[in-house]
Amino acid sequence: MEINVSQLLQEPIGSIRDYQVDEAADIIGDGNKYTTRGECHLLRTQRSILVKCALNADVELTCNRCLSKFRHPLKINFEEEFLPTVDIASGTPLPLPEETSAFTIDEHHNIDTAEAIRQYALMAVPMKALCRKDCAGLCQKCGKNLNQGKCDCPAEEIDPRWSALTKLQ
Ligand SMILES: [Zn+2]
Ligand SMILES: [Zn+2]
Repeated sequence: MEINVSQLLQEPIGSIRDYQVDEAADIIGDGNKYTTRGECHLLRTQRSILVKCALNADVELTCNRCLSKFRHPLKINFEEEFLPTVDIASGTPLPLPEETSAFTIDEHHNIDTAEAIRQYALMAVPMKALCRKDCAGLCQKCGKNLNQGKCDCPAEEIDPRWSALTKLQ
């Protein structure tokens, strides 16, 4: 979402704006567009615009165990400062922020929340995505999805050298 903050930058410190977010974008880099909904609050601070967003999106993930696709609700919450690159009163360029990862307000006084949303959406994706807690996974021999029932493969033959260990489990 692109927001023009030229007005807000000219208002006193502490001024706020609220925005409703409802837009579709490729937020987790899988080529799919997911609708992201929620609210963003913009706060004029001494040196920046502080953007605080609470968003939700329903994304499609691939289960780590059974490789099936499933929908997963993502909560995307963040608070990030956007630093001006141009002085609002004079129009002269400002020195770039020291924090290289800092978000910036462009020379037209626009804030683009897309990159922040993408970064925080990616962080919200579980490292080990499971379609359900007790996902049975795939049979290692025939590849059948064991959530849909047992396969016809013979029971696992255990190397006798390991059998002592499996008894311990
Ligand atoms: Zn699964
Ligand atoms: Zn099998």
